[in-house]
Amino acid sequence: MVVPPAHDAVERRTGDHRAADADLERWDREHVWHAFTQMADYEPLLIERAHGCTLVDHQGREYLDGVASLWCNIHGHAHPHIDAAICEQLSKVAHTTLLGASNSTTVRLARRLVELAPAGLNHVFFSSDGSSAVEVALKMAFQYWQQRADPRPQKTHFVALADAYHGDTLGSVSVGGVARFHAMFRPLLFDCWRVPAPITYRAPAEVPRDRAAEYYLAPVERLLAERHSEIAALVVEPLMQAAAGMIVHPQGYLRGLREITRRYDVLLIADEVAVGFGRTGKLFACEHEAVSPDFLCLGKGLTGGYLPMAATLATDEVWNAFLGPASAGRQLFHGHSYSGNPLAAAAALASLEVFDREQVLHHLPAKIERLRQHLARIAGHEHVGDVRQCGLIGAIELVRERATATPFDWNEQRGRAACRYARERGVLLRPLGDILVIMPPLAVTIDELDQIVSAAEYGIERATADG
Ligand SMILES: *Cc1c(COP(=O)(O)O)cnc(C)c1O
Repeated sequence: MVVPPAHDAVERRTGDHRAADADLERWDREHVWHAFTQMADYEPLLIERAHGCTLVDHQGREYLDGVASLWCNIHGHAHPHIDAAICEQLSKVAHTTLLGASNSTTVRLARRLVELAPAGLNHVFFSSDGSSAVEVALKMAFQYWQQRADPRPQKTHFVALADAYHGDTLGSVSVGGVARFHAMFRPLLFDCWRVPAPITYRAPAEVPRDRAAEYYLAPVERLLAERHSEIAALVVEPLMQAAAGMIVHPQGYLRGLREITRRYDVLLIADEVAVGFGRTGKLFACEHEAVSPDFLCLGKGLTGGYLPMAATLATDEVWNAFLGPASAGRQLFHGHSYSGNPLAAAAALASLEVFDREQVLHHLPAKIERLRQHLARIAGHEHVGDVRQCGLIGAIELVRERATATPFDWNEQRGRAACRYARERGVLLRPLGDILVIMPPLAVTIDELDQIVSAAEYGIERATADG
């Protein structure tokens, strides 16, 4: 016989439940070492479940996912089609190795990526995170020049943009240029040659606004003209440098980089880890300027934001340089235990299917336009120095003084404060310093977008009230 629990037993169980919550928060503070987070003042936020663009914490509070779970989520959380694809794959096999073997789901994904990517990128190397996708492109580029038919062993250097961010492994940090993140590790890094980031906000007075691309391409041309015989590749985030502060490049800049790198026989690595998979309004950012890079790095949104997976796509020209008898040792000696994981591949394939089934790109222009209108209004705020947008990615830069573009003292952490206030209004945001980022899943509705921006505005008001 089933005896219904006595009232106090229910009470006690609820009490236990609360105690468990307090334990979880304490364990989160004490045991989980959070990325890019000062653990001395970390405030636990435990997400328990999610649906669509809504995250639900362990106490049942709901938040809109204003930064797509750190730029990863595309079609919303718990999407039935992606969930089903993962379950179906799980009923077959969760993981098999890609070292000298394969599985059908991963093969299908590679084929689909090749079909969708800019022309000429016929070969896909799988890894587990964006940093590795960049790391792999750097190693492939380096090795390519050593062993192609007409070797150029002098071409060992890399060129990257000022303020670049390409991930946190040492190779990707070497091409990175965000001082606050990277300066500490300088002694561990290889040398990288820098060209200026094509910034328009706070650009030197001599930069002609209508010819910014030309202005910023000139130093690239000078460097490559002089040193191309020593340069293996140039790495860039197409259209927009995300972690650098959502720096939107002038139109024609990417196209110009492709022309210059072609002219001087330098490989072009396009890092679309942040901007890929529809964020800019097209599936890949390179499409906006009809550019085919030599390498395309994908991550974050590849699985719809479900599972860790990244990919480095390369051309036939690069691939061919790695062919030969096994004894010649020309293969790429790089790999990861979970390369090409079938569960992640199933999620990625399903995510690409959702792009078609729900005509995701077709529905973007209306959302992008709504974001543009919101940003245009916010640009008038007395502590907003600049607003920037690339597709469904928006950025709002807070400053102490608009007229002179004088930033707030970094220690005041105004961006962080603004996001804390936005959270009171049920919206989760994560800033880049004093730059507020609006980067919801592509599945965001106009109504949700309005709520996200309105919470951000409230946050800006509160965080700059005593500015
Ligand atoms: C996030 C990011 C990376 C690193 O990806 P991880 O998966 O965090 O290693 C690399 N490049 C760009 C442009 C990114 O935004």
